[in-house]
Amino acid sequence: MEKITIEKAAVLKDKPSLNGIPFGKYFSDHMFIMDYDEGKGWHDPQVVPYADFSLSPAAVVFHYAQEIFEGMKAYRSPKGEVLLFRPLENARRMNSSAERMCIPQIPEDIFMEGLKALVELDQDWVPGAPETSLYIRPFTIATAPQLGVHASSSYRFAIITCPVGSYYPEGLNPTRIMIESNDVRAVRGGTGTAKCGGNYAASMRAGINAEKQGYSQVLWLDGVNRRNIEEVGAMNVMFIIGGKIITPALTGSVLPGITRKSCIELLETWGYEVEERELPAEELIKAAESGTLEEAWGTGTAAVISPIGEIAFEGKRHEIGGNRIGTVTQKLYDTLTGIQWGKVEDKFGWSIKVC
Ligand SMILES: *Cc1c(COP(=O)(O)O)cnc(C)c1O
Repeated sequence: MEKITIEKAAVLKDKPSLNGIPFGKYFSDHMFIMDYDEGKGWHDPQVVPYADFSLSPAAVVFHYAQEIFEGMKAYRSPKGEVLLFRPLENARRMNSSAERMCIPQIPEDIFMEGLKALVELDQDWVPGAPETSLYIRPFTIATAPQLGVHASSSYRFAIITCPVGSYYPEGLNPTRIMIESNDVRAVRGGTGTAKCGGNYAASMRAGINAEKQGYSQVLWLDGVNRRNIEEVGAMNVMFIIGGKIITPALTGSVLPGITRKSCIELLETWGYEVEERELPAEELIKAAESGTLEEAWGTGTAAVISPIGEIAFEGKRHEIGGNRIGTVTQKLYDTLTGIQWGKVEDKFGWSIKVC
């Protein structure tokens, strides 16, 4: 592996207050960058002061959206250590997204070493207040100036970070969501399993519509028959129906979340059976009407666990669990966040110490 060079910023920035800080607007002092050129491969891994990129207006990423990203966090433990949560899973998922988008693979060791070098150098940016963290955004963009529609011959991989406050400053309140029966997020064979920007661009209209109607997220249906539940907003989703835990199977249009995978592993060690299968919206709504839909929650790095208190479908509203957070939902939240922040014993070896 090529050695990572480090260029420190001459002047360090003031750190913002985390009270009510908007997500993803204040960035730390440094970033990791590495470039790829055809014939040369990935080269010049470096940690440099955070700064704008200079790109050709013809760069492939601007026209054909050849781009992928990841999302993860660094956490401050009670002992003052800086911890990462299952970072190798992010490196691997980034490479599977890369494969779908014809972007060259990044060796896992360079991803991991670049990430650790950056987080260690900017360790003072990992906040210590309860429920705060340093959000980490690795991404790769196609940089070659070419309007012809084919895969780029050059790329930039970068990692930037930003401190984030508590996701739940007012406590873990259930959200209201709406089943979207018009727009779809992804289709089998499309890019739903890749973490790519294009999926997000395509999802924004439905999100805006839902908000206008007083809902915080949409519950996506499959893109072929608009029948089965897939994800909630940009999170995976889980339900308890009649004592059984059900989550949509990874059938090709659902993003394989690391929080999802961790929840399944935790639930199974607690003795629950988790059904990964197709879940028709009709079955979900029937369960809500008959009172057997006990709990519902979304899973993802940003919120970790997001309890769902109400689902609307075809203009009708259905309350879940009395619009209060359920016991399994709460236990998952407490255990996962406990492991992430180094407060609960990590029997799985998920937590990696940076410094
Ligand atoms: C990132 C993402 C998730 C959640 O993945 P985590 O690894 O748990 O953060 C779920 N759905 C979509 C569409 C995503 O982009």
